Amino acid sequence: MENYSIETVCQLNDKSIADQWGALSFPIYQSATFAHRGLGESTGFDYTRMQNPTRQQLEYVVASLEHGTDAMAFASGMAAVAAVMELFRPDDHFIVDSDLYGGSIRLFNEISKKNGLTFTTGDLSSGDYRFLFQNNTKAVYLETPTNPMMNVTDIAELAVEAHKRDALLIVDNTFLSPYFQNPLDLGADIVIHSGTKFLGGHHDTIGGFVVVKDKELDERLRYIYKTTGAGLSPFDSWLILRGIRTLSVRLDRAQENAFKIAEYLKTNKYVTKVIYPGLPEHPGYKISTKQARGYGAMLSFEVESKELVEHILRSLELIYFAESLGGTETLITYPITQTHADVPKDLLAKNGITDRLLRLSVGIENADDLIADLEQAFASFS
Ligand code: PLP
Repeated sequence: MENYSIETVCQLNDKSIADQWGALSFPIYQSATFAHRGLGESTGFDYTRMQNPTRQQLEYVVASLEHGTDAMAFASGMAAVAAVMELFRPDDHFIVDSDLYGGSIRLFNEISKKNGLTFTTGDLSSGDYRFLFQNNTKAVYLETPTNPMMNVTDIAELAVEAHKRDALLIVDNTFLSPYFQNPLDLGADIVIHSGTKFLGGHHDTIGGFVVVKDKELDERLRYIYKTTGAGLSPFDSWLILRGIRTLSVRLDRAQENAFKIAEYLKTNKYVTKVIYPGLPEHPGYKISTKQARGYGAMLSFEVESKELVEHILRSLELIYFAESLGGTETLITYPITQTHADVPKDLLAKNGITDRLLRLSVGIENADDLIADLEQAFASFS
């Protein structure tokens, strides 16, 4: 497996669980339970909450893509984050990046705090985080690039600091996907994905992943997994498996489009800021170039007024105004009322998430058509 390049890993079948008839599309094992041949003679599959062949095939591919030893497929990205939080106990302290997907911030503030965990928030991309550690710090949690401000943190450097203090490093790798970045190789202990996004890739299903490479951590997470029961269904597992087959080609095209759109937005007189890690002027450009194989297809930009935001969202014809990201179609999102609606106001302001900020998840359409759509929306503003 390690000898294959990533484009090939996207097509892998685990021979040990492969279908006996040689089907290239892995079958959907739509069964809640599995018969035993005799006492103590399990086929390896007992009950779908615990294991399912279709889901196991998907987990094998995702673990391979992330260079982990195991991956667990969940019913959503948030179910994956919530399961990871079950590793911790009351009074455990977390350092979390200040700019994160709003749903993760909501989970930490409204659920994890209630369960006795404590949190310190900081801008980890600044590199100035050593003072945030406490004696009871058990984990550091981040996204890189972050949602939606695209801040980039040096994963390897942070892993060293976390491990010096016996804290785990947890990285949500949704924005770059394993095609562009492998946090486990850089020292992270746990990788999380919203599989809804680039892995699924078609805006047609919800899923999530936790990937690890440590045996003990894996056993603890597998226990949480079977006990809390948020595993991905066989059909959704199959959809994400199918999505992964084209991960590399989708992301190559989407990234190429993102570069073109970022360059176009830079020339637009109504745009006051373009935030894309692939631009050399982005503060995280150097770190991105060092730790990732690409810059992704997510970018944010700020326009001169809230009125213009409203106008753009009403006027776009090709680009969808919708929450989510990572699919074949380009989406525009207004973080302040959508993905980050529940983030406390002071944190929004601190992170620079204003009412003039828009986020684009660039798809695989023709870049000229996408730019023409943006252009017509700006041009009709008076
Ligand atoms: N992590 C990131 C970076 C996200 O953007 C999202 C959702 O947008 C999630 C996690 C949560 O994933 P899901 O919506 O699949 O629960």
